[in-house]
Amino acid sequence: MNSSAAVFKETLQRSRRIAAAAVFLALSTALTQSSFAQAAPAQSIAYSVDLASPEQHLVNVQIILPAGAAQRELQLPVWNALYQIRDFAQYVNWVRAKNRSGDPLPVHELDKSRWQIQGAEGGAIVEYQIYVDAPGPFGAQLNSHHAFFNLAEILIYPVDARTGPFKVRFGHVPEGWCIATPLTQASDAEFSAANYDRLVDSPVEIGTFVESDFDEAGAHFRVIVDADPADYDMAKIVAALHKIVLAATTWMNDRPFDTYTFIYHFPRGPAGGGMEHAYATAIDLNADSIKQSLNALTGVTSHEFFHLWNVKRIRPQTLEPVDYTKENYTRALWFSEGVTSTAEGIIELRAGLLDEKHYLDQLSEEITELERRPAHLTQSAEESSLDAWLEGNPYYRRPERSISYYNKGELLGVMLDLKVREASHGQASLREVLQWMNANYAKKDRFFNDSEGVREAAEAVSHAGLASFFAKYVAGTEEIPWDDFFRQVGLRVDTISNNIPDAGFIASRNFDGPMSVAAVTPGSDAERAGLQVGDTIIELQGKPVGQESRQTLIELNSGDTLIVKVRSRRAGERELKWKVGTRQEISYELRDLDQVTPAQRERRTAWLKGEAQSAPDASSPGAPAGSAPDPVTSGVSHK
Ligand SMILES: [Zn+2]
Repeated sequence: MNSSAAVFKETLQRSRRIAAAAVFLALSTALTQSSFAQAAPAQSIAYSVDLASPEQHLVNVQIILPAGAAQRELQLPVWNALYQIRDFAQYVNWVRAKNRSGDPLPVHELDKSRWQIQGAEGGAIVEYQIYVDAPGPFGAQLNSHHAFFNLAEILIYPVDARTGPFKVRFGHVPEGWCIATPLTQASDAEFSAANYDRLVDSPVEIGTFVESDFDEAGAHFRVIVDADPADYDMAKIVAALHKIVLAATTWMNDRPFDTYTFIYHFPRGPAGGGMEHAYATAIDLNADSIKQSLNALTGVTSHEFFHLWNVKRIRPQTLEPVDYTKENYTRALWFSEGVTSTAEGIIELRAGLLDEKHYLDQLSEEITELERRPAHLTQSAEESSLDAWLEGNPYYRRPERSISYYNKGELLGVMLDLKVREASHGQASLREVLQWMNANYAKKDRFFNDSEGVREAAEAVSHAGLASFFAKYVAGTEEIPWDDFFRQVGLRVDTISNNIPDAGFIASRNFDGPMSVAAVTPGSDAERAGLQVGDTIIELQGKPVGQESRQTLIELNSGDTLIVKVRSRRAGERELKWKVGTRQEISYELRDLDQVTPAQRERRTAWLKGEAQSAPDASSPGAPAGSAPDPVTSGVSHK
């Protein structure tokens, strides 16, 4: 699902019509347009991260605290990257402290993730050991092959100095390993950041990766690949990145960075995910999937790259400042994630990486995905955003319980685009909405007020009231009247009923976690065989569960015998067998109207380019400065 990448896209609903590559996109992490003032010249907090024990996955960290208050509190974030509480403190083996003379200082644990030290007025040295073996772009891992860190998962911060300058040095880096990170390099293995949020928004890869680089749109790009060279073609990846970068920066008419780093891992086993950062992205994709085609890579890359605007700079107030100690509730993920998926599609179209037919097929799949989940009538896009923190729970992921803010958000992005075009008579589009938000929020170091902030932008560029759109489809759960929106571009949505093979259950995964049974059809052979909701699926047709398992399920035929090995706490490990049945399934498909008028054709062309039919009048109040669709001229950094 390179175009929409959602937790819920993992849902293994049986379908012959839908065979999208499984790609998972990520969620947002720390802030970049910090609301904190730049600290006055202060002494840096200095971390030393020691990689001495790769085989044991143990990292020893030392924090040197400059002189200051006698009593200091130290916090390890409970969440990062994913909107899920992951309690990284569970991996901290021990914490100790001493003063500058080497005398031990007492360390008191205040809660599971916070410690207090006394007697630090002359400065202190805090040391701790943490176990890190979580692979993927949302994790932190040290092993004999490499290290990859989301630093918020391993760096405890002094609560009173989060806004101050930081340094981090990596020690005992194994011979032959190099370090790649968007952090500012101070010396060989030492890097600096203006504050903790910037520090931990900078992924770090340390190992024997291959590096390439290129210049485009006036900026410098680094491409870091940690994979078997037989599994990928760097020249092809770089060629695709050129197109994506150019398409995105010209579409936004902005380039708020001078350098940007792409970090890729292509593991042989299960993988799938991308994590956005302000000056980088980290993306993991299964090696086989990228050997077959670069579609998954270009989709997830377009999505993560667009995040450098949407969520990293165009940022909801509800995520600012980040509170690392508990859930951060926001109603805006339908926009920050979902509309990033809308932009992903437009960037791919503009880059020539996707054609009209495939784009419309992808949108049809998204509509089908939403319509098939009964919860689209009970959970709004805003509620789905608030409930992101529940996604780790299999019951929550059931179709009658929840929708995906990626899925509905992407569709809302498309509907908002069409609505703005209609209301402005072709003078504005989603592009103008995003550029307006970039000019009026990001560039002014302001954050937007969740859905209200999006409405403000959409109304400013369309000069029309859009309250009812937001009330019905964003805050509410009214059925989206697809045809009313798509008619202007000469399309309609047809429903198609098919008899399709039915395995009798739905499986889901939480990002790259284990696959579990989300629902079992009552009265099905799967139920009779003993399959239960909550079972963890270990093997499908004799093969360990991996990224290709989705395809295995899609390729089943009615009458085939399905052999599934599952595990549950109550029933232990067991092998279940049953015959695949048949059921009726409704799909939704975007098709041309019987008569597509020249005007509709013209509007469709502009829509698929992501451009208004005519550029808005530069003097109109809604038009952002420099919104004309011309090449990038701005080389000024956002901050
Ligand atoms: Zn995303």
